[in-house]
Amino acid sequence: MTDFVVIGGGIAGVSAAAHLSQDASVLLLERETTMAYHTSGRSAAMLVENYGSAGARPLVKAARPFLEDPPEGSVDAPLLSPRAVLWVSPLGGTSHLEEIAEEGRANGANARLLEPGSVVEMAPIIRADWVGGGLFEESGADIDVAGLHQAYVRIARGNGAELRTRSPVSAIERDGSRWKVVAEDDTITCGAVVDAAGAWGDLVARMAGVEPIGLQPMRRTAFMVPGRENSTRWPMIVEADERWYLKPDGVQFLCSLAEETPSEPMDARPRMEDVALAIERINEATNLEIRTVNSQWAGLRTFAPDRDLVIGEDPTAPGFFWLVGQGGIGIQTSPAYGALLAALALGKPLPTALTAAGVDPARTDPARLRGRC
Ligand SMILES: Cc1cc2nc3c(=O)[nH]c(=O)nc-3n(C[C@H](O)[C@H](O)[C@H](O)COP(=O)(O)OP(=O)(O)OC[C@H]3O[C@@H](n4cnc5c(N)ncnc54)[C@H](O)[C@@H]3O)c2cc1C
Repeated sequence: MTDFVVIGGGIAGVSAAAHLSQDASVLLLERETTMAYHTSGRSAAMLVENYGSAGARPLVKAARPFLEDPPEGSVDAPLLSPRAVLWVSPLGGTSHLEEIAEEGRANGANARLLEPGSVVEMAPIIRADWVGGGLFEESGADIDVAGLHQAYVRIARGNGAELRTRSPVSAIERDGSRWKVVAEDDTITCGAVVDAAGAWGDLVARMAGVEPIGLQPMRRTAFMVPGRENSTRWPMIVEADERWYLKPDGVQFLCSLAEETPSEPMDARPRMEDVALAIERINEATNLEIRTVNSQWAGLRTFAPDRDLVIGEDPTAPGFFWLVGQGGIGIQTSPAYGALLAALALGKPLPTALTAAGVDPARTDPARLRGRC
């Protein structure tokens, strides 16, 4: 008998395991042979403060102290390195920039609007005859995603949690006030289940007899192209309508079409036409003249119907906890949602890092999706 079975070994599952295991016994079950094989291993690895739904912004703020100063012994190198964000708009299309600036100011992000000339000075690849304006945010950062995932694994194991790979959960049954979880040949009895199965979140719920919440996985493509000399410290550049983005990644640029294409839960693969369209748009806005793609991949960003995260106990199924719907911000918010899930599941007060950042558990409560809030 274990207190919690966590299903899914992506960033959400390991963050939950790290936080829950401080006060409870935890078994994490991951279907694949490696834990961050799906979306968590396929991100752009960025922290962008001025991004995500209104409900998620406080989680971004609350996550920062952990990312800047992770618990002793959990990491071998810093998790964050500075990477500013430069939003850019084409001539005649700058209204969205002002909206982003406004949202940023409302949430305390330090964002300043730029004239076209300053955009080109800051990022000489942007074409002067394309750009209409920019918005600069200094507070962004690259996240060492593998280091962060490993930090949670270390903390969880250090607290006595067991993390199993090659363990697909195939059945979940209620057993009085407990749950029975079947994974391969093993049946585990536990007090509560945490559904951190990403794109498969609704399928896991269905297994447990819990009504799905309408999760929608959305495919997003990314690819690497050769960088420019001295480009390693340049900002991430994001088209303000999110039609493409790129960021320096070592000696390469990581590029994306920034698309949201509905998908079934699956091992997502990039489509040639998405890569080609991104290259066309980036070549129109920059002087990069991309002709070579070094590597490409795709991942699923999974959203709840209202695009806020879903964190907490299902009102219809005591002992069934959701930790899904992280969309495009599941890496940068992971320390905060892991802490929130653990406080709710263990019946403890919210940690001060969450309350100080204005995290409101009602915003992410699954009950809102059951029409009970
Ligand atoms: C191209 C791209 C760029 C992104 N950029 C950023 C970024 O810059 N910053 C940011 O914060 N976020 C970013 N994201 C979003 C981020 O990657 C996700 O929000 C996050 O990884 C979701 O984590 P997860 O653990 O929920 O999902 P996953 O990593 O997919 O983990 C879910 C796990 O559950 C397992 N599972 C499913 N069903 C079962 C079962 N029955 N039994 C056992 N295991 C099961 C799966 O095998 C999987 O490993 C990006 C995403 C993409 C695709």
